[in-house]
Amino acid sequence: MSFDQFALHARVIKGVQAVGYTEPTPIQEQAIPAVMAGRDVLGLAQTGTGKTAAFALPILHRLMDGPRNKTRALVVAPTRELAEQINDSFKDLGQATGIRSATVYGGVGMNPQIQALRRGTEVIVACPGRLLDLMQQGFGDFRNLEVLVLDEADHMFDMGFLPDIRKLLAQLPTARQSLLFSATMPHDVRYLVDETLRDPVTVRVTTGTAPVETVDHVLYPVEAHLKTDLLDALLRDWDARRVLVFTRTKHRAKRLAEQLDRRGFFTANIQGNLSQRKRQDALEGFRRGDVHVLVATDIAARGIDVSMVSHVVNYDVPDTEEAYTHRIGRTGRARMEGDAVTFVTSADRDMIRRIERSVGETIPEVRHDAFDYSVSAPRHLDAEAKRFERGGSPNTGRGGARGGSRGGGGGGGGRRDRPSVGSGTGGRARPQAGSGGSRPSPAHVDGGEGAGGGPKRRRRRRGGSGGASD
Ligand code: AMP
Repeated sequence: MSFDQFALHARVIKGVQAVGYTEPTPIQEQAIPAVMAGRDVLGLAQTGTGKTAAFALPILHRLMDGPRNKTRALVVAPTRELAEQINDSFKDLGQATGIRSATVYGGVGMNPQIQALRRGTEVIVACPGRLLDLMQQGFGDFRNLEVLVLDEADHMFDMGFLPDIRKLLAQLPTARQSLLFSATMPHDVRYLVDETLRDPVTVRVTTGTAPVETVDHVLYPVEAHLKTDLLDALLRDWDARRVLVFTRTKHRAKRLAEQLDRRGFFTANIQGNLSQRKRQDALEGFRRGDVHVLVATDIAARGIDVSMVSHVVNYDVPDTEEAYTHRIGRTGRARMEGDAVTFVTSADRDMIRRIERSVGETIPEVRHDAFDYSVSAPRHLDAEAKRFERGGSPNTGRGGARGGSRGGGGGGGGRRDRPSVGSGTGGRARPQAGSGGSRPSPAHVDGGEGAGGGPKRRRRRRGGSGGASD
């Protein structure tokens, strides 16, 4: 099956060719004809399925006819990152169409956004809060709006945007085509569907919260204080150029990124405390391949479009089954293969059972054979790490992020040579017997989970096999 079957405008097809898509993904096969036929669509699809092009292509096709310099399509997304990603897709796919698109979201200057609205940019991709702000100030003319897309509706609901969306809907023309995409269909999203869509065609590529099929899931049982060491060992085993690591809090994302950076991995973090510029720098670095390991929180990672993420590591188990699906939706994208690795402490067992029920399978447990699981916990676990060990809820506000300790004097503070993680295997090292033997030598432990008392280090008490062999 090819894109020719859709009879998309020749200039839109040019964009498809330019980005190198040869075959539509299942969501595209189902959604593109329905959208082109002018139907409202409910798309049950998660990130990684090609859902952005599933709405961007037919919208570009539609906009080829009719007036320019009027805003005719509005895409509403929960995060700035997702908005940027969607905007990029419109620009890439629409590169031969002359159709313009622009983003509108908070945290950055308003002027360029006001200009884009004033110019009547044909496609506006917006987060709800800033768009409403600007509309209340009298900017944006949506009288010519033909298509509305609500993307990642479940996230918008999670993030409390529903009241904003309702206010927005009240100000848009009712005679329009509406498309709503969501990975899951909780009760409130169902409500929004009923309010927004008219006689929709439902397209779905997975049912419920089932994650993408090309992903292999494994659990690594590990004590909380050994998580960083285990991650270090795994990163060295893999051909780890594109690893996305999730933590539950901003503080932990920052700290883990610092720890990995000190150990010599090209690492960046992306979390809500960073400025928009820093977040974008981190994402760009990851996209370009300068950053091999990106440590993220759930919210900050939403909408990351990084094709070819090879490994997603749940350093901390997610809070919900849906969050698990969203996290691993970032690997195995568009039919590539990926690994989803979840670190599990004894406190996480209930959540794992729920995830397994939603995945519909028992996720295999593996041990890293060359890893020393016997190292006991440091005495000074900080308060947050202790809460985690007990399975308590994370606290983002406290806990001494002894950030900036990089380069601190003493053993290992200086930047060592970056570990050569490219093994040339071109594939994914399977965690199996005999897969180890790639311990760096000698590694340092940054106080494990709770680096109490500053950047205190202790030597790893491991046999260690010496030079990194993988
Ligand atoms: P999305 O689910 O929209 O976030 O897309 C996931 C990834 O798949 C993005 O990197 C897209 O560029 C890519 N993609 C979308 N459609 C196709 C296609 N038909 N063939 C290959 N890659 C695609």
